[in-house]
Amino acid sequence: MESIQLAAQVTPWLASGRTLFLIIHFLGITCFGYIVAMRLVPLLRAERDFRFDRPLDRLGKVLKFGLAQWKHPRYRTAGILHIFIFAGFICLVMRAFYVLIVGVSENFVMPGLSGQAGHIYNIITDYAATVVFLCMIFAIVRRLAFKPARYAVPEKFGKAHTADAVFLLALIAILMLADSLFAAARAAGPIEQGQAVELLATWSLPWMLKGLLSSSSLSTLRDFYFGAYLLHEVTFYFLLCYRPFGIQFHVETSLFNLYFAKLERGTVKPVKYGVSEEQLAQAKSIGVKTFEDFTWKHMLDFYTCADCGRCSDNCPANAVGRPLSPRFITIKARDYAFQHYPMFGKPTNHQPLIGNLYSEDEIWSCTTCGACEEECPLLVEYIDKIVDLRRGMIDDGNVPQSLQKPLKALESRGNPYGKMEKKRADWTNAKDFRQSCPVKTLDGKNHADTLYFVDSVTSYDDRIQSIGRATAKILDHVGDNFGILGAAEKDSGHEVRRFGEETLFMALRDHNVDAIKASGVKRIVTADPHTYNALKHDYTDVPPVEHISQVIAREVKSGKITFKPVENRDSVYTYHDPCYLGRHNQVYDDPRNVLDAIPGLKRVEMSRSRDRSFCCGGGGLMLFYEPKEEQRMGVKRVQMAAEAGANVIVTACPFCMVNIEDAIKVAGLEGKMTAIDLAELAEKQIVRESPVVEAKGAAGIQQESVAGR
Ligand code: SF4
Ligand code: SF4
Repeated sequence: MESIQLAAQVTPWLASGRTLFLIIHFLGITCFGYIVAMRLVPLLRAERDFRFDRPLDRLGKVLKFGLAQWKHPRYRTAGILHIFIFAGFICLVMRAFYVLIVGVSENFVMPGLSGQAGHIYNIITDYAATVVFLCMIFAIVRRLAFKPARYAVPEKFGKAHTADAVFLLALIAILMLADSLFAAARAAGPIEQGQAVELLATWSLPWMLKGLLSSSSLSTLRDFYFGAYLLHEVTFYFLLCYRPFGIQFHVETSLFNLYFAKLERGTVKPVKYGVSEEQLAQAKSIGVKTFEDFTWKHMLDFYTCADCGRCSDNCPANAVGRPLSPRFITIKARDYAFQHYPMFGKPTNHQPLIGNLYSEDEIWSCTTCGACEEECPLLVEYIDKIVDLRRGMIDDGNVPQSLQKPLKALESRGNPYGKMEKKRADWTNAKDFRQSCPVKTLDGKNHADTLYFVDSVTSYDDRIQSIGRATAKILDHVGDNFGILGAAEKDSGHEVRRFGEETLFMALRDHNVDAIKASGVKRIVTADPHTYNALKHDYTDVPPVEHISQVIAREVKSGKITFKPVENRDSVYTYHDPCYLGRHNQVYDDPRNVLDAIPGLKRVEMSRSRDRSFCCGGGGLMLFYEPKEEQRMGVKRVQMAAEAGANVIVTACPFCMVNIEDAIKVAGLEGKMTAIDLAELAEKQIVRESPVVEAKGAAGIQQESVAGR
């Protein structure tokens, strides 16, 4: 009986199918190899980056964020779609290789996939091809008809990417269709004696196509079979070679990007890997000024971005109309790499990035809040790049006007206000406070186990000093033997470092480390998440540090702290996660546990909370910077609190307090909304006298409160 010839056996034109497919393989693989080699050129010219440590942790990231698609469901529709496509691709990997090989070796069988196992695998891949095909159609319709706002490209950032995205989706759909069509044509035709009958999965795309082809003549089936196979081969290699020219390059690069992703949160990369701080003074240039100053990993980020827009969708700077959209930090750099490292001809490089690719305001607009990095499914990094670009600008003497004064003051006085060092502990002199809670200064004569590191905003800002006093009272209440450094303390330098002034940061850090060591303390407590982050991640060789919210939560648990009920039961509280306590250090539950331990306190969550918290606008020296924006970040945050039904915003950060209280006024919500720091609220509610039994009103939980001392 006549049957369908296998693709390798067909002689369509002058050469046999085998020869034709061998040529296609050779051309496809050579082109792909060449393209990838050219894409690696800028990475080879880039700055060093040490990402080869802790292989097991790195593998864990690949498994979690790559294979398990951890972050994708954060955007439900797109995430589920991506999970289906990814799972489909995983199932189809072996089939793709098998299909490519049978074009030149018709009797090839994948090892382990002969007999029953092969049938089962074919059924799985029939369904996988169907799912991927349907997902592509859905994604195309979604891109064209129901495009989410985050895919839009504002005019200032270039042209829309819709056509490219749709083209790539269509290519994958064609690939799935071709794969299914030749399987269907082969299954619809008569089978040569001795060959196994090809089973197709019911209701799969190949199965349906087989139904359509069942009445076709043998010659039509042969044409379909060979044509579909040829289409599959050409589409496969075209797609392979086209992907490195656009967003689909992430298919090749993402697993590498996940493997080499940053392992520690809250940190900032060294100015130059492999160059000691002492050697930095001799460095000709510091920071990123040209494209080649980025590290190879940062360039890999540029190639890996899938242009999904999630980073910018969560970026507070973008939300309030600042000239920064993290997605375009990446897309512009990627386009730059494509343009300046062409496939043919010499690279053209060393063009300054600031003024050409990025504007100054764009780079100063970032608060280093980390929302972009938290959201990115491919772990693309932004803060280190932005800090590196700022380091480059600072190195060129390019400092925004509004920041020149605070920086000079930090250099000369150790605080951004330019106030006298000896006034640093003046907040302890408030009359009522001094009587009830004397605070030791650890100046060599006084000693303590715990250092309360106050930092500049709390030391000098009249309003924020109250957070300092509340913190001290709490430490005193739980019986901590604590003290402060007073005039010996300088700004922690956290913002200075994120602003890009590394040399000044190092001077502040070294001074503080010496002072901390001289004090002989065993632990450090602070009420400022920026200070907490600096002491935890930027400083080395200092005692362990805790944020006051962690201390309160622990002492509530231990019973040393108990709270009296809130006075106004009509108040509705909401907790605003400070970026450097939440996202950068994962302290989400302790502040909430403290609030929930206060009897009668009604608490609601804002739509953007925990790791999706919306920055108040205070990070990265932003308290002193005047950005170009349509709306203040703090105002947007206060509106979110109002939308959640809250009229009291609780935060746990002096920077947040400055911004939120200001935003309440700007938003016209004075009298309707208030803000309070967690330490202030906790201190106000602490039971200090006799034991009382209280009913925890809102939650209806009975709680026994016992005086702490
Ligand atoms: S760190 Fe925050 S402000 Fe900066 S780009 Fe990312 S999301 Fe935007
Ligand atoms: S950086 Fe990440 S989140 Fe942003 S567009 Fe690219 S892939 Fe999406």
